Amino acid sequence: MIPITDVSPDEGDLYAARKKIQPRSIKGRFNNVRWAMVWITQIVFYGLAWLPWNDRQAVLFHLVERKFYIFGIVLWPQDVLFLALLLIISALGLFLVTAVAGRVWCGYACPQSVYTEIFMWIERHIEGDRSARMKLDAAPMSARKLGLRAAKFGAWGALALWTGFTFVGYFTPIRELASEIASWSLGPWEAFWMFFYAAFTYVFAGHMREQVCKYMCPYARFQGVMFDPDTLIVSYDANRGEPRGNKKKAREGQVVGDCVDCDWCVQVCPTGIDIRNGLQYECIGCALCIDACDQVMDKVGRPRGLIAYTTERTLLAKKPAHEGWREVMAHILRPRVILYTSLLAFIVSGFAWALFTRTPVKMNVLRDRATLAREVEGGKIENVYRLRIMNTSEIARRYVLEVEGLPGAAIADLREIEVEAAGSRDIAARVQVDADALQPGSHEIYFNLQAVDAPDVRVHEKTSFLQPR
Ligand code: SF4
Ligand code: SF4
Repeated sequence: MIPITDVSPDEGDLYAARKKIQPRSIKGRFNNVRWAMVWITQIVFYGLAWLPWNDRQAVLFHLVERKFYIFGIVLWPQDVLFLALLLIISALGLFLVTAVAGRVWCGYACPQSVYTEIFMWIERHIEGDRSARMKLDAAPMSARKLGLRAAKFGAWGALALWTGFTFVGYFTPIRELASEIASWSLGPWEAFWMFFYAAFTYVFAGHMREQVCKYMCPYARFQGVMFDPDTLIVSYDANRGEPRGNKKKAREGQVVGDCVDCDWCVQVCPTGIDIRNGLQYECIGCALCIDACDQVMDKVGRPRGLIAYTTERTLLAKKPAHEGWREVMAHILRPRVILYTSLLAFIVSGFAWALFTRTPVKMNVLRDRATLAREVEGGKIENVYRLRIMNTSEIARRYVLEVEGLPGAAIADLREIEVEAAGSRDIAARVQVDADALQPGSHEIYFNLQAVDAPDVRVHEKTSFLQPR
């Protein structure tokens, strides 16, 4: 079993005041991966909002127009199924990654981890590394402390505001948003969400940090159910490390493990835990303790991997912790991984098929309830319908509208209908049928809409035609 030590507060003490964590910076392989993820995610987040596509923003969830643009795809409220499927795919992808590789999402890609890392980088560059910051915290207020704090909070505030601006820029065109800000004509909702998201980023990444992961994140609480003995976890190799102590200072005959008890693994931990106490829910799997311990092992001339990505199965078999990778690969085809992968492949295929074969036009048909079925010239009965035609393609199109389903049914003033690219148009259609051809009552009738330039772009909608008694 992985050793687990109870480090909860004394019984009866349900409130523990937060101890401020001032993590030490560390260089290493996993820190490089973390920073690569910071760059990738932030270039995408801050950059994508400015990317143009066909004279519009490439990715825009336009709330006013109620249209979602994702590169060449235009989704309408009627396409809510695609958005639901996207959420299901994201959730299943996260489950799969967690089952195989544990909390890599938390450690490397979760916005909370990424922004905390960026905010800490700013803090380090203004106030210094761990010991300098601890000294500054303990020092009485002075002009220097005030200046450093003002610089840090100012830099955090500027970044948070830019983040809030970018976030809102995915829901309202970002260039229009920028000019509204420049001309002091920002709408109330846009201003609210921009400042709200900025405040949210500032507080979560600047001040709350690990508390969000420990006390607020629901995913941190339930992801344990996706773990199994072959899931990758960050763990300390107690077989090798214990009893901990300094070999040079050890008495003759005293057996000392590889852990020199330097505390570096604790000092670099962004959640402030000691991984040597065993697997803890606070561990976000960032692997900074691995980087720290590897450096220590290099210095004391011992092999790396005293703290490593490993698996419970590896530890139970008393194999070296760093061999966990091999165990993961050896047991990659296990039931839960196969289940998540199959579900994911099935839903992704269905999503892709539905997306790429969907007809780029939609039509809503409503019988005009304000206009009763009536008799018109030539002994015909006329029903009026309200049609909304939505062109979900990126080119303007002309369509021909026809009716079928009743003998002699025709649309009066039949004409072609032009709809702009990614636009919609509301029209009224007057359908006339010979009065003698129908019994009184309701009859099924179909509207056919066909693009003039593309025979396969057509829709077919059922409605009813009323013959008065
Ligand atoms: S960094 Fe390594 S050697 Fe130092 S205390 Fe942690 S586990 Fe022990
Ligand atoms: S224990 Fe290690 S892997 Fe876990 S959060 Fe702390 S530094 Fe990251």
